[in-house]
Amino acid sequence: MDTRSVDVAVIGAGTAGLVARREAERNGASTVLIESGPYGTMCARVGCMPSKLLIAAADLAHEVSRAGEFGIAVPAGVRVDAAAVLERVRRERDRFAGFVIEDTEALPAEVRLRGRARFLGPTTLLVDDHTRVEARAIVIATGSRPHVPEIFDAVRDRVLVNDDVFELEDLPDSIAVIGSGVIGLELGQALHRLGVRVAIFSRSGHIGPLTDPEVTRSARDVLGAELDLRLDLGRDARFDLRADPAGGVRIGDEHFDRVLAATGRRPAVESLDLERAGVALDARGVPVHDARTGRAGDSAIFVAGDVTGDRLLLHEAADEGRIVGFNAAHPGDVRAHVRRTPLSVVFSDPQIALFGERFADLDRDRIAIGSVNYADQGRARVMGRNAGLVRVYADRRDGSLLGGEMFGPQVEHTAHLLAWVVGRGVDRILELPFYHPVVEEGIRTALRSAAHQLQLVPAPCAHELDCGPGV
Ligand SMILES: Cc1cc2nc3c(=O)[nH]c(=O)nc-3n(C[C@H](O)[C@H](O)[C@H](O)COP(=O)(O)OP(=O)(O)OC[C@H]3O[C@@H](n4cnc5c(N)ncnc54)[C@H](O)[C@@H]3O)c2cc1C
Repeated sequence: MDTRSVDVAVIGAGTAGLVARREAERNGASTVLIESGPYGTMCARVGCMPSKLLIAAADLAHEVSRAGEFGIAVPAGVRVDAAAVLERVRRERDRFAGFVIEDTEALPAEVRLRGRARFLGPTTLLVDDHTRVEARAIVIATGSRPHVPEIFDAVRDRVLVNDDVFELEDLPDSIAVIGSGVIGLELGQALHRLGVRVAIFSRSGHIGPLTDPEVTRSARDVLGAELDLRLDLGRDARFDLRADPAGGVRIGDEHFDRVLAATGRRPAVESLDLERAGVALDARGVPVHDARTGRAGDSAIFVAGDVTGDRLLLHEAADEGRIVGFNAAHPGDVRAHVRRTPLSVVFSDPQIALFGERFADLDRDRIAIGSVNYADQGRARVMGRNAGLVRVYADRRDGSLLGGEMFGPQVEHTAHLLAWVVGRGVDRILELPFYHPVVEEGIRTALRSAAHQLQLVPAPCAHELDCGPGV
C-alpha cells in the first residue's frame, strides 16, 4: 500500500472539490484530489447542462407548435426526432464536460488519486485499498445523490433518475414523474413538450422551491393548464406504484412505460465512514459545520458543495469550495465568507425564480408585498407569454427590498437584477432606468406597489404605459 502525506486532501472532483483544491494550492498548500467516479462534475455530466440542453429542444418544439397563434403556418406540424434530440443533448453535454475533464487531467499526476476515499481517523483516509493519505486538513466535497424512497421498492429495477434520462437512446411513450421539485418540473415539462405522455405526481403540493402561496397558485394554474399535475395526493396517501407484468409500471390502474424518481437528493456521505472522523454528525450523517467557514467543529475537516445539504446550486458549491480551500490551507486562521444573496431559478416555462429571503421565512407583519400579474404585462403579451405572478417583499421599517418569489416570463434574468439590489430601498430602485417595452416594466409595477404601500411613491398607475419612466 502507498502512503501519501499532504497539507490538504480533497474528496470529490466536482465543482466544490475542484475549486477547493485550487484555492488550497494557491494558498501554498500541497494537495491531493480524490475521485471515485468519472471526472467532469455532476453539473456538466448529469445536472445543469444536459437538463438545460433537453429543455432547449423541448421549448423550441413548443414554440414552433404555437406558431399559428402569430399567423405563421407550419404546414407539416412539429415532429420530434427523439433520438436526434437526445444525441444532441449528449454531444453538447460531452463537449461541456470534456473541458472540465481536460482541466482535471491536466493536473499533475501526483495531485490526483482515483478511488473511493473513506476515513480511518480525523486526518487519515484510505483510498480504495491502495493508498493511505495523511493530511493536515480534509475537505469533504462528495456532492449529493438522488434519493429514491421506499415507495419505489416494488419497481426498483424500472426507476429512472435524472442521470438515466440523458442516456436514453429514445424517449418512452409515457412516463410518471414522482416529485414536483426543480428536477421533476424541469424534466417533466421538457419530456411532455417532446411528445411523451407525462403525469407529475406529488404528495406535498409544492411547485419547485416556491413558498409564496399566491405565486404557487399562479404556477399551479398556468403549468396545470399544460401539464398533467397531480399534486394533492396528501402526505399520508398510499402511493400504489407496482411493476406491470407487461412491462413498465402501474400507478393504480394506469400504465406508464417508465417512472422518474425526482424525489429529492441526499448528501453523499454513506461510504465515507465518517464515524471514524471524530466529528459530530447531523441526522443526515453530515458533519455538523459552520456554514460560513465550512469547518466541522474545531476539527481540520471542512465541508463544501451539495454534501452540505444546504444550497444545492452550482455557484454556491463554487463559493463554498473557495472558502474551504482557503481555510483548509490555513487551519489556524479560519475565515468566514459573506454569503451571496440567495438566488435560484427553475427552467420551467414560465420560469420560476427566488431571490433574497423566501416568503416562508419572513414575518408577514414586517413586510409590504408588491405584485405584478403578467397576464396584462405589455411586452409579455406581445410575445404571447403573458402569464405568471411576481411578488416582491419590502421591509416596512426602512423600505428595503428583502426578496421575492417569481413565476413568469424571463424571470431567470429579472431575478438576477433584483438579487443585485436586495437591501436597497424600493423607492431608490425605482430611480433606475426601465426601458420600454420590456418585461422589467412588470417588475417596476411590483416595486411601485410595494413602495406605494410604504408611502414612498404616489399611487401606482392603472396601466404601466401611463407611468412612463422613473417613479
Ligand atoms: C438534474 C439537475 C439539474 C441541475 N441544474 C442546476 C442548475 O441549472 N443550476 C445550478 O446552479 N445547479 C443545478 N444543479 C445542482 C448542481 O449541479 C450542484 O449543486 C453541483 O453540481 C454540486 O457540485 P458538488 O461539487 O457539490 O458535487 P459533484 O459535482 O457531484 O461532485 C462530487 C464528487 O464527489 C465524488 N465522490 C463522492 N464520494 C466520494 C468518495 N467517497 N471518494 C471519492 N470521490 C467521491 C463523486 O463521484 C463526484 O464526482 C442541478 C442538479 C441536477 C441533478
